[in-house]
Amino acid sequence: YFIAPELFADTFVTITGDDAHHIVRVMRGKAGDQLIVSDGVSREALVKLREPEKDRVIADIVERLAMNNEPSVEVWIAQSLPKGDKMELVIQKGTEIGADRFIPFVSERTVVQLDAKKEGKRIERWQKIAKEAAEQAHRNRIPAVEAPLAWKQLLKLAGEADAAWICYEKQEGLQFRTQIQEALSKGKAFRIDSDSGLGGDSGGTKRVKLLLIIGPEGGFTEQEVEAAEAAGCRSVSLGRRILRTETAAMVGLTCILYETGEMG
Ligand code: SAM
Repeated sequence: YFIAPELFADTFVTITGDDAHHIVRVMRGKAGDQLIVSDGVSREALVKLREPEKDRVIADIVERLAMNNEPSVEVWIAQSLPKGDKMELVIQKGTEIGADRFIPFVSERTVVQLDAKKEGKRIERWQKIAKEAAEQAHRNRIPAVEAPLAWKQLLKLAGEADAAWICYEKQEGLQFRTQIQEALSKGKAFRIDSDSGLGGDSGGTKRVKLLLIIGPEGGFTEQEVEAAEAAGCRSVSLGRRILRTETAAMVGLTCILYETGEMG
């Protein structure tokens, strides 16, 4: 996989410098070999080498590939079931922004009652919303929308993430940003180890998994926050203003993805 060939023309690419050296000397590339190249911005293609030259490689485009639009990290949004159709909003907007997984859950102050008979239909509808939002956003992957969990089950899931945060409006101080940066730097370390190059979904890349837990309209109880901390989550503030539950999920997700440097 090579990024930023010097010239990305309609039918061929030209690769120079270290990349050309790597292809010719290290990989011993020969005419007919195929590679994937990207201009690092929006174009990606499968190419076939012409006879390599000393410091330059020209390769013909065999097929243009869709660019990987997935974030380099997985953000799992655990959302205490909100009232009305707000869960739909969380799924739709969260998918556009780049969430990987939605996990509704029930906590002490969750108002919405689960109705086993209607649950299957509701999840189906949520999955359809995720699919449509993924298509509209040109995602490469449709995020998972899972069946609602009980609070204790959710805390178990926290152990599977590389970092987990419980958003708590009463948390003092502003540590979220530093903690995101710490979690992302761990992710970079294992992305390099796995020799994947670009990050994202390609080539068996192991993406860092980050869980964001958002409370219901009435918030979390102090005991719930303590239990989450005991399960390995960190309690964080999203700023001094109290956000609606559906807004909090979007703000937390955007803060994380912004720090990856992939949002602008
Ligand atoms: N009463 C409003 C509503 O109906 O949506 C606000 C509810 S707020 C208590 C809901 C959840 O959003 C909280 O449990 C928390 O997870 C998250 N939240 C809202 N503002 C926050 C903030 N400033 N910092 C951290 N979390 C926040």
